[in-house]
Amino acid sequence: MNLEGKRVLLIIGGGIAAYKSLELIRRLKEHGVAPGVILTAAGSQFVTPLSVSSLAGEKVYQELFDATDEAQMGHIALSRNADLVVVAPATADLMAKLAGGLANDLASTVLLATDKPVLMAPAMNVRMWQHASTVRNLATLKKDGIHIVGPNDGEMACGEFGPGRMAEPEEILAAVQAVLSRTQRGALSERGTLSGLKALVTAGPTHEPIDPVRYLANRSSGKQGYAIAEAFADAGAETVLISGPVAIAPPPRARLVRVETARQMLAACEAELPVDIAVCNAAVADWRPAIHANAKLKRRKPGEDSVPKIALTENPDILQTLSRHGSRPALVIGFAAETENLIENAMQKRVYKGADWILANDVGVGSTVLGGESNRVHLVTKTGAEAWPEMSKTEVARRLATRITAFFGKEAA
Ligand code: C5P
Repeated sequence: MNLEGKRVLLIIGGGIAAYKSLELIRRLKEHGVAPGVILTAAGSQFVTPLSVSSLAGEKVYQELFDATDEAQMGHIALSRNADLVVVAPATADLMAKLAGGLANDLASTVLLATDKPVLMAPAMNVRMWQHASTVRNLATLKKDGIHIVGPNDGEMACGEFGPGRMAEPEEILAAVQAVLSRTQRGALSERGTLSGLKALVTAGPTHEPIDPVRYLANRSSGKQGYAIAEAFADAGAETVLISGPVAIAPPPRARLVRVETARQMLAACEAELPVDIAVCNAAVADWRPAIHANAKLKRRKPGEDSVPKIALTENPDILQTLSRHGSRPALVIGFAAETENLIENAMQKRVYKGADWILANDVGVGSTVLGGESNRVHLVTKTGAEAWPEMSKTEVARRLATRITAFFGKEAA
């Protein structure tokens, strides 16, 4: 991982291994990081503030109650301004302080105050390392999410042999890179790859009333649209799900707007503009009864020979309307359920509807797409058609979210 531009705060504790921290500073600087340094009182017995600051090219902080330091950079700011806090060497004392929550000098106060990842490189006498107290503290620190590198086995300055030697600067540097790249990935997935974007998804059928008790509808279950809204919300997008009547639970993190008719669905969509992404998955009724009878239509009476005739009129095309809208979303995606000439029809549909992408699925004889759990789609874009293998509707949704992430150029580095 490239460390350029990363901010590391190095705490040098009191141990013979402190001299290796000077080498660590040098290695960090080679990677474009000029670390801020805190030198503990014990640490300054092993390396001098002058040698540290000369190498780091930065001021060295030593005192908690230094009026000048506090005025220029308070200890809280010091702990927050870094991307990572490295403690090398981490003495038994520093480990115990953090494990126990003590804060009685600058180093321990900063460690307690920081909201950034902490990497410790323990170094101590083998018996101190193996002491029940240190073992306990190490377990606590690990449980608290503190990253540990080393110690290594070897001959100690005190003449004993065993674990307790601080990890080599090269190993600490590798651990710094690993922790920072994990944090970066974590932050991205926590924030979500679609964070900062607003998405609108239509789903389900529409119900077009004939009279107060009857309506025209279709077999759409809404499953694919709901899965898409869930995948978008999981990826951090502000997601609005505009749904016709369905019998499935709404995804927890999406905002649900319930509608019945195509015209209500269109109005609800327009009310959400501007959005970045619009996915029209709803099986909107193409027609609605031209007249919505206020009273229930009656069956013919004996002797009467006519049945009511229901004249139809065209519904607005929501996908087409959004594609041509003054506040057109940056990415408009439609679906095409076709029974023949799947790709060809989907390509034509993409153009005349004005969509950017079409997800085409074959709903011909034998297909279980409508109402089923899985889907086999083709992604039709300006540049061609891409066949996706048969997968669950949830997987289709996730794959779509990934494609959209790439479209907006927000892929993890
Ligand atoms: O024209 P067709 O119904 O095959 O087009 C399907 C696509 O258009 C789907 O994305 C569907 O959600 C959308 N659509 C719409 N409004 C309509 C009809 C279809 O948004 N009135």
